[in-house]
Order: sequence, then structure tokens, then C-alpha cells
Amino acid sequence: MAEKDILIIGGGPGGYVAAIKAAQLGGKVTLMEKDELGGTCLNWGCMPTKALLHGVEILESLETGKEFGIQAEGVKVDFVKMSARKDRAVKILVSGVAGLMKANGVEVIKGAAKLLSPRTVQVVDEKNQTVAYQAKKIILAAGSVSAPLPIPGAQLPGVIDSTGALKLNRVPESMVIIGAGPIGLEFGTIFSALGAKVTILELLPQVLPSEDEEVASALEKSLRRFKIKILTGSRVRGIEESTGGKLKVSAVTGEGEETFEAEVVLVAVGRKPNLEGLGLQEAGVRFGKKGIEVNSRMETNIPGIYAVGDVTGQWLLAHFAFAQGEVAAENAVGRKAQLDSLAVPRCVYTLPEVASVGLTEKEAKEKGYEIKVGRFPFSANGKATVLGERTGFVKIVSEVKYGEILGMNIFGPHATDLIGEAVLAMTLEGTAQDIARAIHPHPTLTEALREAALDVDGLSLHIPPRKKG
Ligand SMILES: Cc1cc2nc3c(=O)[nH]c(=O)nc-3n(C[C@H](O)[C@H](O)[C@H](O)COP(=O)(O)OP(=O)(O)OC[C@H]3O[C@@H](n4cnc5c(N)ncnc54)[C@H](O)[C@@H]3O)c2cc1C
Repeated sequence: MAEKDILIIGGGPGGYVAAIKAAQLGGKVTLMEKDELGGTCLNWGCMPTKALLHGVEILESLETGKEFGIQAEGVKVDFVKMSARKDRAVKILVSGVAGLMKANGVEVIKGAAKLLSPRTVQVVDEKNQTVAYQAKKIILAAGSVSAPLPIPGAQLPGVIDSTGALKLNRVPESMVIIGAGPIGLEFGTIFSALGAKVTILELLPQVLPSEDEEVASALEKSLRRFKIKILTGSRVRGIEESTGGKLKVSAVTGEGEETFEAEVVLVAVGRKPNLEGLGLQEAGVRFGKKGIEVNSRMETNIPGIYAVGDVTGQWLLAHFAFAQGEVAAENAVGRKAQLDSLAVPRCVYTLPEVASVGLTEKEAKEKGYEIKVGRFPFSANGKATVLGERTGFVKIVSEVKYGEILGMNIFGPHATDLIGEAVLAMTLEGTAQDIARAIHPHPTLTEALREAALDVDGLSLHIPPRKKG
């Protein structure tokens, strides 16, 4: 049986970054991927959605353009072209990863792999041949799959998940989205801007249930601008076929029993780790419902086996998978590394965007911190005004004793780019005063972060003083 040094199962952000890092550090790496390199992120997640969303941004900018005296006549959306461009972007990115594998000397084996024992991996390759390998170190990076919705009718044609939504070859006339998390809201933004009549049903009392309440409610208001109908606190009971090829979704909403008809129903109720067929039991790797159990060094309970990314069920985010992948790779080549992941940014690609890191105000209070909160609206930021993107605000939660930043929430233009500053500040255990001390370039949206930091002490320069008493 052939022997491999470091064998990685899964070529998504967790697996391919682990492969590059291990190779950079001198490891001899083999990566097994059953589908396309780049995983969910490049093929069916982060990147194709952003490609479509950028098309929507261009469309929206024509709307804002009117304010600037730019009148575009006869604007038409060719969704087939938009999708083809998305597919081309994905292709470029996937071949970029293949190029990186080659450049780093990583051997890529195409096929579905599974553990037979703590040191043996079997792969069924593209020619349907089964080959087994011995491996000194193994990194599991098999990702996640869409969580199913256990209700009647969930299997009907026309009921799709996020992958199905990315395969649509035309904009449906109507769409019900079940789940108002990041994925549901992102697709809601895309398809409603492209003309679909979108209804979003969410079980919990707010959209983005784990985000700051103020942010969630401001976002909900702004989504209505796209004419998206949002019903929170609504339990979906079932889906059935209706007339005219439509589907009928029944739900208990605040109004009682209601039904919603749509051409397409998108189930976006989260993702679950992809644990099936990995041979975890055979190798004795411990896992639970949430995913494969790992410590901060990405080690599983079996020495020499690591797990990274969505399969660990921690933060189901590509950048977290990257970070875990690097740590696992360092440990696999014999270095000592660990992940102290207090500052993990969370991004929601709506228009405008939401981004946050650390604790929300409510979470900080629940944890018993004495806190101070600073806010700054984009309507008072010069650059946002010039851009015509004045919706939203920055909110900083800082603790009183040492002034350390506990969390930052941004709702507004380019929030997902702006949050990087907060991540850095929190990683360095910085305070709101540190952000305020730093000279920010003018005119930029980043000044809103500085002003929110100043507002933690009631000293924001560009909003009227807070009322005393
Ligand atoms: C619609 C959507 C939008 C998203 N947008 C964002 C975003 O904007 N930002 C963000 O941070 N995250 C986003 N995510 C989440 C992100 O895609 C994941 O967190 C990320 O891809 C996880 O990386 P991973 O390497 O753990 O797993 P994956 O990317 O899922 O990769 C796992 C790989 O393992 C392969 N594999 C599985 N089993 C085997 C096996 N037995 N043998 C061989 N290969 C196997 C799979 O084919 C896959 O290629 C989005 C997800 C979706 C669905």
C-alpha cells in the first residue's frame, strides 16, 4: 500500500489552504477531492453568490444614478448572461486553486475518500477504482451540506436549496424563502432586485437571529425597499403542489394560519457538517451532531487526525476554515500552533451589508459585562453622503473597566470590508480609544468607525452632543 505523509480529504477553503500551508512548511501533501477544488465556497457558496450580487449592485447603482443626473433608459437584465459570467468567474477561481496546488507541489487525487482505520484512507477515483493509502497525518476537511427541512413536501420539484438557487436559469416570478439567515437574505436580495416577488418566512422573532437587534431591525426595514415581504415568528408547516405549476407553503404566522404561493421555494435553514461516508466510526474519530470534535490545535481525539472547516461545525464560514486549515497544517508538519478565535467576523451580503465581530450588546450584558456603547450613523459620514449611501450605522460595544472592545456591528455601505479594522483591533485587544487615536483617511467610510469609537465616551465630533441627564 502506498504511503503518504499528509493526506487531506476535501479541497474547499479548509482543505486547500491546509495543503498550501503544509507544503510551504516542507510537508509532502496529497489532497483528495471528490468534486471540484474550491469546495462549496468557490463553486456553490461565497463566490458565485457575490458574482450575482455584483450584477444587482450595478443595477441598483443605476437607480442611485438618477440622483446624480444619470438617467439610463431601457435597462434590461439578461439573467442567462449574468449567470454565465458568474460561472466564468467560478471557473477562473477554481483553476486558480488547481494552479496553486501544482505550484506548491501538492498531489491532487480526484475521488471520494474515507477512513478505513486511523492511518488508512481509501479513495474511489474517477475511473471507479478503489485504492487504499497509508498516511502519517490526515486532515479531514469534508465541509457541510444544506440542512434539510423535515416537513411534508420538502422533496417536491421546485423546492430547492442554495445550490439549486445558483442553478436557476431564469428569474422566477415568485419565490418563498424559508429562513432569514445570511444565505436566505442574500438570495432574497438578489432575486427580488431582479424582479421576483420574494416572501421570507423566519421562525425566530428577528431576521439574522444571532445578530444585534438594532442591526436586524434596520436591515429588515431596508429589505422592504426591495419590496421583500418578511414574516418573522412564522413556523412553516408544509409545502404542497398548487395550480399553475406553483407551490403552496403553509405557515403559522403572527396572523394565524396562512398560505403563500410561489413558483420556487428556497429552503435556507442552515447547513450541517458533512459527516456521512467519511469512515469516522471505523477510525474511532469522535463527533457529535454539531460536527467533528477538535481542540484549539484542530486535533481530533485520534492522534495524527485533524479536522478543519465546516465539518467541525464551529463557525461555518470560509475565513474560519482558512484559519483552521493553517493551524492544522502547522501541527501536522510538527510545529505547534493553535487558534484563538475570539474575533471571527460575520458578514451578510445584503444591500447595504451587515458585518459584525465579537459580542452583540445583548450578549455582552448577558455575560455580565458593564458596557459602554458608541454609535455613528452613515448619514453623518461625508463619504457616505457623497456616495448617496447614507443608510446604516456603526455600533461599538466596549467594556467599562479596561475599555476593551467586546464587539462591533456595522450595517451600511461596504460593511464587510470595514469590519476588518474591528477584527484587527480586537485581535490586538484594543480599546475604542485606540481606534479613536488612529488617524483615519478622509474622506472615507472608515471615519464612521472612528466616530463610533469616539462616541463610546460621548465625544463624537460629527454628531450633535448627547443630551445630558
Ligand atoms: C450560498 C452560500 C454562500 C456562502 N457565502 C459565504 C460567504 O460569503 N463568506 C463565507 O465566509 N462563507 C460563506 N459560505 C460558507 C462557506 O462556503 C463555507 O464555510 C466554506 O466553504 C467551508 O469550507 P470547507 O473547506 O470547510 O468546506 P467546503 O467548502 O464545503 O469543502 C469541502 C470539500 O470536501 C469535498 N469532500 C467532501 N467529502 C469528501 C470525501 N469523502 N472525499 C473527497 N472529498 C470530499 C467536497 O466535495 C468539497 O469540495 C457560504 C455558503 C453557501 C452555501
